[in-house]
Amino acid sequence: MCALLLDLEPGDEVIVPSYTFVSSALAFVRAGAKVVFVDSRPDHPGFDEALLEELITPNTRAIVAVHYAGVACDMDALMALSAKHDLIVIEDAAQAIDSAYKDRPLGGIGHLGCFSFHETKNIHCGEGGMLVINDERFMERSEILWEKGTNRSQFFRGEVNKYGWVDTGSSFLASDISAAVLMAQLESLDIIQKQRLELWHAYDASLRDSNGSFTTPEIPDYATNNAHNYYLVAESKAQRDEMIAFLKSRQIHAVFHYLPLHLSEFYLKYHDVSTLPNAEHYGDCLLRLPFHLSLNTSDVERICQSVLGFVA
Ligand SMILES: *Cc1c(COP(=O)(O)O)cnc(C)c1O
Repeated sequence: MCALLLDLEPGDEVIVPSYTFVSSALAFVRAGAKVVFVDSRPDHPGFDEALLEELITPNTRAIVAVHYAGVACDMDALMALSAKHDLIVIEDAAQAIDSAYKDRPLGGIGHLGCFSFHETKNIHCGEGGMLVINDERFMERSEILWEKGTNRSQFFRGEVNKYGWVDTGSSFLASDISAAVLMAQLESLDIIQKQRLELWHAYDASLRDSNGSFTTPEIPDYATNNAHNYYLVAESKAQRDEMIAFLKSRQIHAVFHYLPLHLSEFYLKYHDVSTLPNAEHYGDCLLRLPFHLSLNTSDVERICQSVLGFVA
């Protein structure tokens, strides 16, 4: 829906981090735009705000800010940049429910914000999502896109006498059944988040100062922590892969995360970026430890002992 709202034309460019899920780029590519990849920060998998300005051209229309692990991008810097160059900021807040930049909820700062309720997120309904519109310009049309290209919502509000097909659109609505599953979790969000934060802090207490040959997540002062996941960054791909195999031998399912999009087979022919070193580093070296609500803190303790055992 975001990509449709931008009304992209061939030649338009959208800046997207390379270290993210395919969906962050695919929506814009499918709508006809060219994606321009930006590298990650050295200290965080999120994009490096300092690299954005040099990627802006007269064709740039939007910047997609992915809040990796629910940790905010530097939104003040980003919104200032977007105002200067008249660009739309889309927050990919897929992982960022219940997280904030300073005192502002993520997804509520950019012109548009997208949440995911895929089963891998803090709250979920199998498949589903939410588009937050923070800019009045997009209100009317978003409702039409959402109603399969009709002005049905206006009809129900009594604003028009009949409704019909007025624009493009699709069946973007979640079913009532999915919505009910999600609603129950929304009502329990505080409980869910409390448990997730307990697990996160249990991981962090055991691993942060372990002097292990890996780094642990850093949360900048301006960001809150929504305990979306807990990850380590190993020194090398070989070490990361060995750690995954070692944990597997102990029946602990640790996983890597994104393969940087600038290296993906599908998009190679459309861009000429040769290397984005930080994105590649996270692609090679990042590993996520098990994180879900069936874990308790003694499970986390056992997982951490195994991680430390591997390093030793
Ligand atoms: C999960 C995720 C998505 C995709 O969400 P869907 O609900 O599958 O569309 C997009 N971006 C990021 C950063 C994600 O983590």
